[in-house]
Amino acid sequence: MSPPTPTTTTDTTKPIALITGATRGIGLALARTLATNHSYHILLGTRTTSSSPATTTTAELLTTLRSSNPSLPLSIDPLPLDLTCDASIRAAAAAVLAKHGRLDLLVNNAGIALDHYPIEEGEPTRDAFRKTFDTNVFGTAAVTDAFIPLLSRAQEWNAKHHLPGGGGVRRPPTIVFISSTLGSITARVDPAGPYAETDMHIYRASKAAVNMLAAHYASRFRDQGWKVNAVCPGYVKTDMNGGEGEITVEEAMPHIVRVCTLGEDGETGTFTGRDGKLEW
Ligand code: NDP
Repeated sequence: MSPPTPTTTTDTTKPIALITGATRGIGLALARTLATNHSYHILLGTRTTSSSPATTTTAELLTTLRSSNPSLPLSIDPLPLDLTCDASIRAAAAAVLAKHGRLDLLVNNAGIALDHYPIEEGEPTRDAFRKTFDTNVFGTAAVTDAFIPLLSRAQEWNAKHHLPGGGGVRRPPTIVFISSTLGSITARVDPAGPYAETDMHIYRASKAAVNMLAAHYASRFRDQGWKVNAVCPGYVKTDMNGGEGEITVEEAMPHIVRVCTLGEDGETGTFTGRDGKLEW
């Protein structure tokens, strides 16, 4: 007998969070943590690749994800979302509007680091910059712009309803940019700064741009009470680093989760790491 098709539960009182690039690594761990410990309904941004083409349904994506992650909480829905494709971004925003009508938390997590390994021999720098910026910067900005109307709708919705999810705390619309210390210009010009020996100029430039996006959106929505912050997760053992790193994804969670779950008195316009404030 084949196992029953996994389903999700949609509780309209739960705050709704979208995490981009959440099929593995930091994004998947964050989805699990926010759903399990903080009562979020999670929309798991899932890039459709050649092995899971654009026609793949969310039910099929969920089945695939659950087969490799059996303990995934039920309050998780995969959402097809490729940062390099505007049609995919538009379709994702339309799907969330139709199904949920709002979004409480956007975590811009998806990212690539081509120059973590030597740039392919012969690949022009311009091409590597284009690919990296297409995902890390253009995609992140396009997703944020596409979902701002849904974050606004959450603010209106929350003003009318008391959210029992999240411990009854009313949370303002929140955007978190998963950035990197490598994107800090202040750190890069300091010969004794963190990771001074690391090159990765393409990735560094992309995360510096991500930091500007975070600073921009924080300023843009400060008066409305939104919480918009950039965080560096630390040097985390994920596929991006070939499994190397100083901490596990679980150890990276407390800091990221804190910035995702700020209350109305929480900070905005900050760039922080596990040990506190970072220089932009
Ligand atoms: P992983 O490589 O483990 O995961 C990256 C995720 O991004 C995957 O889910 C991947 O999807 C997704 N992704 C890549 N390209 C796209 C795209 N075009 N559209 C949608 N999703 C996409 O990386 P990490 O978990 O380590 O990194 C997560 C974030 O944290 C990144 O922004 C990274 O720059 C940042 N960061 C990581 C650090 C670390 O030490 N690990 C340090 C500092 C920052 P798929 O499975 O389909 O490839």
